[in-house]
Amino acid sequence: MQINQTRLAERIQTLGAIGTDPQGGLTRLPFTKEEKEAKDLIKQYMQEANLHVTEDQVGNLFGTRQGQGTNRKTVLFGSHIDTVYNGGKYDGAAGVLTAIEVMQTLAENNATHDDDLTIVVFTDEEGARFSSGMLGSQALIGNWTEDMLQTTADKNGVTIAEAMQTYGYQAEKIDTVQLDGESLRCFLELHIEQGKVLEQEDTSVGYATGIVGIRWLNVTITGEADHAGTTPMNLRKDALTGASEIIQAIETKASTYPSLVATVGQLSVKPNGINIIPGEISFTLDTRDLDDVLLDQFVEEIHQTVETITEKRGLNAHIDQLNRAESIATSQHVNEALESSLKKNQLKVVSLPSGAGHDVMNMASLTDVGLIFIRTKDGISHHPNEFASDSDLADGAQVMLDTIIQLAEQKKEHD
Ligand SMILES: [Zn+2]
Repeated sequence: MQINQTRLAERIQTLGAIGTDPQGGLTRLPFTKEEKEAKDLIKQYMQEANLHVTEDQVGNLFGTRQGQGTNRKTVLFGSHIDTVYNGGKYDGAAGVLTAIEVMQTLAENNATHDDDLTIVVFTDEEGARFSSGMLGSQALIGNWTEDMLQTTADKNGVTIAEAMQTYGYQAEKIDTVQLDGESLRCFLELHIEQGKVLEQEDTSVGYATGIVGIRWLNVTITGEADHAGTTPMNLRKDALTGASEIIQAIETKASTYPSLVATVGQLSVKPNGINIIPGEISFTLDTRDLDDVLLDQFVEEIHQTVETITEKRGLNAHIDQLNRAESIATSQHVNEALESSLKKNQLKVVSLPSGAGHDVMNMASLTDVGLIFIRTKDGISHHPNEFASDSDLADGAQVMLDTIIQLAEQKKEHD
């Protein structure tokens, strides 16, 4: 069975024309008309692939092809179609459209398989609008409550619950979204690598050994917003100079860990006037490592650093955890199936850890998981220049097809 490279390439461009941002690239945020348009297109493709299409109450989209076995479970695979601000055509979309290509190829070949096969298109993977991330897959594992949906808002004060309502999803039904891990055989995601390893290895497709754990913090430093001309240096409680000392310390401390990375990516200054001493600073911290113990140790170190520096400067500090995801290992039997598919397609077997978080992290708490990577030009992602070639995507779709077929027929071994 061969996937159709031309059809896949055309669909990447068609989906990639939805949500075009005048400032460059694509902006498809959750619960917006751009996302709705993209989802309608995906539903149409799913129907062309003869899939049974359903949607849950948080907007996760499913397309199912029924298996022929008794005691069927579901081989679930997919990714997301939301983007960051000014993002590219491949992050998320590559995983969704290759999954549909796999299903359409199976349909055209009247292929049979024991297990049910289901594509999932996760809602709000990127977290660009509500600064939370992975809303859809977090809801599937029961991590969102109605209360949380009603209290988490975007920068305009629109809560997730209100945004959902606009598109007909009901926050009060969030409990109905949860998936039963027992119903799943495994979960597989295909994603662009967003790094340079496959490019360096000169190969189109690889797979992930695991995904780094992630902690997102928001740090608020409060001082006093006094007059810049009349307040002598020794009487100031400048929140920004305090924050800058902390941010320097974050960089220094992170560099003492073997592989940990830490980034302060957002900073807001209040009142933000040229002649006013900054009274309140709020900044975010994104930190990642494959070793969760080291990661927690680093976060604890940052808590102490914030306390020490703010105390010394007579400032107040408050730290919120915005997001926490444990590192995960992908499953050996899924990776074995991936390796055999790579070999079958005369591709080099390359595996690497993933430094970026994906929905597969959440699915790992329900079932066995695997993650396929596609070579990404210059490692660029979350940018209009993000690029994966048509033939690399086709290789990825073919590896996914061959792997899905193996995983859906392994019942004797695993039941
Ligand atoms: Zn993604």
